[in-house]
Amino acid sequence: MKHSQTLIPTLKEVPTDAEIASHKLLVRAGYVRQTASGVYSFLPLGNKVLKKVEQIVREEMELAGAVEMLMPALQPADLWKETGRWYNFGPELMRLHDRHDREFVLGATHEEVITSIIRDEVKSYKKLPLTLYQIQTKYRDEKRPRFGLLRGREFVMKDAYSFHDTDESLDDVYDKMYLAYSNIFKRCGLNFRAVIADSGAMGGKDTHEFMVLSEIGEDTIAYSDTSDFAANIEMAPVNVEYTRNTEQEQERTIVDTPSAKTMEEVSNFLNVSIDKGIKSLLFKIDEDKFALVLARGDHEINDIKLKNCLGATHVELASEEEAKALLGADIGSLGPVNVKEIPIIADNAITSIVNGYCGANETGKHYINVNPNKDFTVDKYEDLRFIKEGDPSPDGKGTIQFAKGIEVGHVFKLGKRYAEKLGAQYLNEQGKQEVMTMGCYGIGVSRTVAAIVEQFHDEKGIIWPKSVSPYDIHLVTVNTKDEEQLHLSESIYKELQQNHFDVLFDDRKERAGVKFADSDLIGLPIRITVGKRASEGYVECKVREDGEQFDLHVSEIVPSIK
Ligand code: ATP
Ligand code: MG
Ligand code: MG
Ligand code: MG
Repeated sequence: MKHSQTLIPTLKEVPTDAEIASHKLLVRAGYVRQTASGVYSFLPLGNKVLKKVEQIVREEMELAGAVEMLMPALQPADLWKETGRWYNFGPELMRLHDRHDREFVLGATHEEVITSIIRDEVKSYKKLPLTLYQIQTKYRDEKRPRFGLLRGREFVMKDAYSFHDTDESLDDVYDKMYLAYSNIFKRCGLNFRAVIADSGAMGGKDTHEFMVLSEIGEDTIAYSDTSDFAANIEMAPVNVEYTRNTEQEQERTIVDTPSAKTMEEVSNFLNVSIDKGIKSLLFKIDEDKFALVLARGDHEINDIKLKNCLGATHVELASEEEAKALLGADIGSLGPVNVKEIPIIADNAITSIVNGYCGANETGKHYINVNPNKDFTVDKYEDLRFIKEGDPSPDGKGTIQFAKGIEVGHVFKLGKRYAEKLGAQYLNEQGKQEVMTMGCYGIGVSRTVAAIVEQFHDEKGIIWPKSVSPYDIHLVTVNTKDEEQLHLSESIYKELQQNHFDVLFDDRKERAGVKFADSDLIGLPIRITVGKRASEGYVECKVREDGEQFDLHVSEIVPSIK
């Protein structure tokens, strides 16, 4: 590609809103431009890198047995109502109306759509397991879109969904996906760790996140210095520290807002956004009275004694059905536990604990009964929020260290949650109807592009790993007015192309200094400069990564960079 024919609008100035290296460099080097807050256009170079990462993802997905498809971004609200996520996804979900006033969402994720397709199209165990994936644009109205491609409101995700008849089958595909993810991030050149994660708003229990290690990462990873143990420390339940002794204290934890009906209203009232890491706990106070508590680590509100609590409110709900819809949790799943004494329903599968009461995970199996300040051993990893550097690792091997990470991938065992809500059933070998079991697996493709830049840059610009570089070689003519230089450059350009190298040819009539600065900024792995020694048939070869520089005869170019 000739520079003169494409669009690479490099900038000398650092964009004012950019705080981190990848954001600054991707804008300065002409890879992306912001179209709206958290919404980006991929210019030709940015698009090329995105496609390179997508290709790696595709190859590894196919190897893992997943099949590509494409689902719509525009989705009917009804599907999201069926799973309850219309009510509890919060303000991150982009909602809109069509001309007939029908409600839609712009897909933040695709469990609803894929499960509804499978429910209609797959009827027998013979079609299972089935793993489908897509690379597609997602929409999330993030509270704080920032850091360029790292946290956008429109972004590219690879999302895969697997459907199974047995847990063993899910385990098997989960392991394959886990391996595929490791391969993908390795091939992108990234320094990453797979960590145990919280199942958050998605529900489910077995889940890992793939974290690119980086100082600017928003997640904190606790890992062992001598073993494979690594976990996102946000996974811990939020209220284990709280002790509530008296009735009065219990009263004080609740702020009255009888009018609040939806999570949105509650969050507005309390002035907290229901985003990552927020748990909502529902207290059943009376027959049709519930109190909703929003809680998260590291916060305390003056008058509210519930430690780590962001706020609490009464919510008037007509029935348990409404409560269920609000939280997407199944009150009935409390099963043998006495509901009067154990009035807390967590909004997700991780059991949440307050003051000796307990919730249950959605399958209803995970019961715990916790006494204040006593036993909160739900699972050996669940008290990780209180872990400190230097503590012994929960696996007994080595001591805990902390690192910051960027979440580039996430794999979940969803279980039956979505299949149950949407009625995805199949006939088993005995001809009996069963609910399918599911897994889901996401990669932030556009976020991965930025994460790579975070790990591969210097003060001059980006240093792309070969596997994802937009072009293989940067061919730079020092002086395009010099016939000999131009002629030699043209013939090298052709020869490299014939040998299947993807070349960016800087044929601009710019000063050499400008071209070199742009070349360092753009960050292709190898630069070939055609300059003074063109008449002797010599060019200069420079390796971007370590700055190594040497002269090469034209005849040596192809063999030496192959
Ligand atoms: P985060 O914790 O960073 O908000 P998430 O846990 O909400 O991410 P998932 O629902 O697990 O995200 O989505 C799968 C992947 O999509 C994430 O691992 C991440 O790489 C990517 N992703 C999520 N939100 C964004 C975003 N706003 N911008 C870019 N990529 C994102
Ligand atoms: Mg998120
Ligand atoms: Mg996350
Ligand atoms: Mg996630």
